[in-house]
Amino acid sequence: MTTTNPPARVRFAPSPTGFLHIGGARTALYDYLLAKQTGGAFILRIEDTDQKRYQDTAEQDIKDALAWMGIQPDEGPDRGGPYAPYRQSQRSQIYRDIAEELIEKDQAYYCFCTTERLSEVRDQQQKNNQTPHYDGTCRRLDKKEAVNRAASGEPHVIRFKSPRGGTTTAVDALRGEITVENSSLDDIILIKSTGLAVYHLAAMVDDHLMGITHVFRGSEWLPTFPIHVLVYRALGWDEPIWVHLSVLLKPDGKGKMSKRDTELAREQGYPIFMKDMEDLGYIPEAVINWIALMGWSYDDKTEYFTLSDLVDKFSIDKLNPSPAAINFSKLDHFNGLHIRELAVEDFAKRIKPWFEKAGLLPRDEILVPVAAALQKRTKKLTEVVDMGGFFFHDEVGLALDRIVSSKLSAGQAAEAAERILEIFRGLDEITQDKAETALRELASQMGLKAGQIFGLLRESLTGQKVSPPIFDIIPILGRELVLERLEKAHKILSKA
Ligand code: GLU
Repeated sequence: MTTTNPPARVRFAPSPTGFLHIGGARTALYDYLLAKQTGGAFILRIEDTDQKRYQDTAEQDIKDALAWMGIQPDEGPDRGGPYAPYRQSQRSQIYRDIAEELIEKDQAYYCFCTTERLSEVRDQQQKNNQTPHYDGTCRRLDKKEAVNRAASGEPHVIRFKSPRGGTTTAVDALRGEITVENSSLDDIILIKSTGLAVYHLAAMVDDHLMGITHVFRGSEWLPTFPIHVLVYRALGWDEPIWVHLSVLLKPDGKGKMSKRDTELAREQGYPIFMKDMEDLGYIPEAVINWIALMGWSYDDKTEYFTLSDLVDKFSIDKLNPSPAAINFSKLDHFNGLHIRELAVEDFAKRIKPWFEKAGLLPRDEILVPVAAALQKRTKKLTEVVDMGGFFFHDEVGLALDRIVSSKLSAGQAAEAAERILEIFRGLDEITQDKAETALRELASQMGLKAGQIFGLLRESLTGQKVSPPIFDIIPILGRELVLERLEKAHKILSKA
């Protein structure tokens, strides 16, 4: 525990309607950080009351993403906990009971208006240039009569009885007091005609019953925020600390990421959804660092944070309510930074599957040295095969035309290959110390630049134009393989 603040109970309450995106992951991360910092609890609650948008693979996707980030809930549908169940579809009766309690307290009422009637009212209001809202017809019904009608099975919803006069002030931890005229508040539906509760009731009930101390959520909830505090107050409950996080903007800063922008970005290969991060070569340490800084900062200079640094340093007062543009190149930057910080054995473990996926056999005996040669140069794990696949290829594909066209004639290339071979054969160990001078001399004897000789050597050993430094590669390949590849190159070049 790193603060003296009381243990926070913080929940991540996603709706299982699609893949977890970076915005949702940010909320979950902040929840986790506060919970861990205060020795409290990080709770996962699945808000699956919207059956129309429900997707049955989404819950698993969310759990997988949290696991990948290394932020496991302390309580949730899988872990259980003192306030189970943690899936709203299994809590319908609880919401129904509280809605009825609100009716008893005269803070809610049954509404029997049909959809047809409601749409007529809406049309009329629009014609009169009014914001559409419920016109309060059933608010005026006799309560006993309404109770009887509902009990006899007449289709109904339950609406919240918003106060009519005065103002309501809600307090957001980042924005301070937000005051609205009560006349602008609608009598929103709490329980739908299907009997299922909507977010405005279900989330409040659960947050209260689950002892939630801090609510971190997206700022799309700001418009209905006053209603949420009114629900709390109508029930006589203490409010949590409300924190509405900043909106994430498109990379160009022009507007919010819409669903379409999200899809477009994904089609273009940008990491929007957590499930894509791994395939795109990002490591969780970097993603966490990147996400944490979208709307939070420690000071104006520190940018490198591990998860445990964040647990230590996170604080609500450093959250910024201003919209933040998503910066994908920053993610690449953080990925490179965090890759360089990994222990080489750890990096080796993470790159091994990439070689395997490319159909290569990453030999364990050289995997760690290969990792060491690649680590400094890797920004995304996707790059390791292009950069280091040659270590594990049986055959190195030589692009002859490239060697020849890189300002060496076929004859020169063949001669150079032969003479490099001679030099290497004469060395019991091919080290930079022993070989470099000889190779430079060879270049000057042949009237070539040293770079042309080294380029040829690189191509012969790797089949690539770009690779880790040649003298880092040679000891890993080993003398035998180096000579073998050079011989092969020489043979090919002589025939060219
Ligand atoms: N289920 C809501 C959503 O996914 C949660 C909002 C909240 O955290 O209260 O937007």
